[in-house]
Amino acid sequence: MLNELKQKTADYVERHKEETIALGDELFNNPELGFHEFKTGRIIEKYLEEHGLKIDKRFAYTGFSVTIGSGSPHIGIMAELDAIPTRGHPCADPESTAAHACGHSTQCTAMLAALDAISQHIDELKGTVTLYFTPAEEFTDLPYRQKLVKEGKIRYLSGKENMIVDHVFDDVDCIIHIHAMGDPFYHFSVGSTLAGFVYKKITFIGKAAHAAMMPHLGVNALNECALFLNAVAYLRETFRDEDMVRIHGIIDEGGNTVNSIPDKVVYECYVRTANYSILQTLNRQVTEAARHCAAAIGGSCIVEDIPGYFPLIQDETLNKTIEENILDYADPSIIKHNETSVAAGDVGDICLFKPIVQYGYNGISGRIHGADMRIADPYEVYITQAKIITGCVLDLLQEPERVAEIKKNFQVKMTLEDYIKYLNSEE
Ligand SMILES: [Zn+2]
Repeated sequence: MLNELKQKTADYVERHKEETIALGDELFNNPELGFHEFKTGRIIEKYLEEHGLKIDKRFAYTGFSVTIGSGSPHIGIMAELDAIPTRGHPCADPESTAAHACGHSTQCTAMLAALDAISQHIDELKGTVTLYFTPAEEFTDLPYRQKLVKEGKIRYLSGKENMIVDHVFDDVDCIIHIHAMGDPFYHFSVGSTLAGFVYKKITFIGKAAHAAMMPHLGVNALNECALFLNAVAYLRETFRDEDMVRIHGIIDEGGNTVNSIPDKVVYECYVRTANYSILQTLNRQVTEAARHCAAAIGGSCIVEDIPGYFPLIQDETLNKTIEENILDYADPSIIKHNETSVAAGDVGDICLFKPIVQYGYNGISGRIHGADMRIADPYEVYITQAKIITGCVLDLLQEPERVAEIKKNFQVKMTLEDYIKYLNSEE
């Protein structure tokens, strides 16, 4: 049974479901890559205006937030703005190939519907709610982001990294985040961890020569890369299952012209693991493999590492509130608990500083990040999640002792100074 206010807000969400689903469609059909989310921002701003709400802070180039209420406690809710390159997705932007194949548009929609519902009663409640719209979660399209850094528009490559360093989250007590999942059985995931990763760009250097007439005078950079990929494949038998190591990459540049020996090959990859303590060791193994494989056939390589995201450790106390509210709408049998996920997100960085949760929701079909990812059940994706988020926020506002407990149990895991040092530790 929902309490009176929860029932009222749930009814409000229900009454506005057509409008919410239409907003979800519009955002899903207007995908943009990270730090390009201008159209997305305008769609959201229009919705906010129509609902008597307005953006009060802008940050991280394309990010912004909306705050309602005043005083303590201060509850954060968070949605990601960006899409991911997904060639072949029917909604993909023809130029950038951006599509909402990670479902971030669904986070924005559900969070907006929740904020709208909460705002109807904010005067009866004590406390503040901020909805953060965070840009550029997907760690992709790096040359563009590096250009923005040079131009002074951003300082770091992901949205939340910039937001943390720019003190955007300083005055919030705890944060609720959600993410779509494509599970064939479970409809919710509570307490999942996320992996940490390092991004690597390896440039194999060789020497060009006519590929047929004088291959003996060249050094084949593509062969260096092929040898390296084999070395990584052999390394895989040394990885322990429980560490969930993933080394996955793409060849960006495979050579200059087919009738010359390739003199430059660029391979981009992530080294990730669910066991953060071994990440640096793994990373060194991959670097060494690249150096030795290149040298083995007379070439060389340049290895550039960019620190990726921290693993997500969710706040257990806050997750109790999430679970209670999910149970208002779902049978316990369809909730997955404490999954070890090898996915990663910059939400992991926030957990160093603030109590945060990210629960997973379904209603999606096809493969996450795949060309067949679709919103299979808009009601579940948008309406049910909006009601659950609303319920969680109301619980925290109506029972500030819950927030006090969350704050008491939380330990900051890193100083901001050390975090900035880490972000600057590119090699
Ligand atoms: Zn995502």
